[in-house]
Amino acid sequence: MAELPKVDKIWMDGELVDWDKAQVHVLTHALHYGSGVFEGIRCYATVDGPAVFRLTEHMERFERSAKMLFMDLGYTVEEMVEAVKETIRVNNLPSCYIRPLAFRGYGIMGLDPIPAPVQVIIAAWPWETYMGEEALREGVDVGVSSWRQRGINSLPPAIKATGNYLNSALARIEANQHGYNEAILLNEQGMVTEGTGENLFVVRDGLISTPPVSDGLLEGITRDSIMQIALNLGYDVVEESLVRTDLYTADEMFMTGSAAEVVPVRSVDHRVIGPAGPVTMDLQETFFKAVKGELPEYAEWLERV
Ligand code: PMP
Repeated sequence: MAELPKVDKIWMDGELVDWDKAQVHVLTHALHYGSGVFEGIRCYATVDGPAVFRLTEHMERFERSAKMLFMDLGYTVEEMVEAVKETIRVNNLPSCYIRPLAFRGYGIMGLDPIPAPVQVIIAAWPWETYMGEEALREGVDVGVSSWRQRGINSLPPAIKATGNYLNSALARIEANQHGYNEAILLNEQGMVTEGTGENLFVVRDGLISTPPVSDGLLEGITRDSIMQIALNLGYDVVEESLVRTDLYTADEMFMTGSAAEVVPVRSVDHRVIGPAGPVTMDLQETFFKAVKGELPEYAEWLERV
C-alpha cells in the first residue's frame, strides 16, 4: 500500500490549515469508539482541467451517512462540494483522491456520542491506483473471507462509517495472510455482499449481475456508474443475490470502487476465472474514458474544479 504523500493544506472545520497542523486530541471520541463517517472520491485530469467524479452524489451519501448517526455536519452539500474544490485548487492537484471525514471530536467520553462535537475535514492527495496498474490489466486474486459481513441490523453496511471498516480490516488481514489481493465477504445467510472497499459484479452467459443493496453492502457510486454504462453499451444487467458458487462459475468477475476503479478478478479461492474478460474490459475502458471527460454522454458526472 502506498505511503501517504503530503500536500500543502487540509480543509478542517471551515479553514484551510497546514497539512502538519491538521491534528486532533488523543481523547477525540472517534478514536475510541469509531464514531465517524467518511467518503472516498476521485478527481481526474481532463482536457478542461481537474474534474471530480460525481462529487455531489458523494457528498449526498456523506450527508446520509451522517444523518443515520445523528451527526449534524453543519455544512450543506453545496458548501462541502465547494470546500472539496477549494482543497484541490489550493493544493494545485491535477488529479487526486479526496477524503472527506466527519467525526465526533474532543470534549466528552462515554458511549452516547450525541453530546460530542462534530468535526469535518476534507483532505486530498495524489493517489494513482489502489491495487496497481497490473491489477487493472491482469486482474486480482481474491478469497472468500471466513469473516462475515455485518448484518443490516447490526452495523449497517449502508452507512459509510469509520467503525464499520474494522470488519474490512479483519477480512483484509486474513486475505493478505492467505496470499490473496482482496477478500469477498458473505453475509450471515451466505449471500455474497462485497469486497472490503469495493462492490462486485459477475458476468455469466452475457448477463451482468451484482448483489442487491438489501443483501448488505454499500450502494457504490462506481457500481451505479458501471450499471448505467453497461446498459448504455447494450448489456443486460440485474441486481440479484449471489452465492459463493456463483463466483466460481462466473465467466468474468470484477470489482468496483472510487479508489479501486474497475478491477478484473482473476481467481476466487484458487478457482481460475480468467484473464480479464471482454465484458469487463469493455466496461473498464468506457469507465476510464468517461472519468477523463472523453465521452460527452457522461459529461454530467464530472464536476469541474
Ligand atoms: N463497498 C465498500 C465497503 C466501500 O468502502 C466502497 C468504497 N467507498 C465501495 C463499496 C464502493 O463504493 P464507491 O463506488 O461509491 O466508491
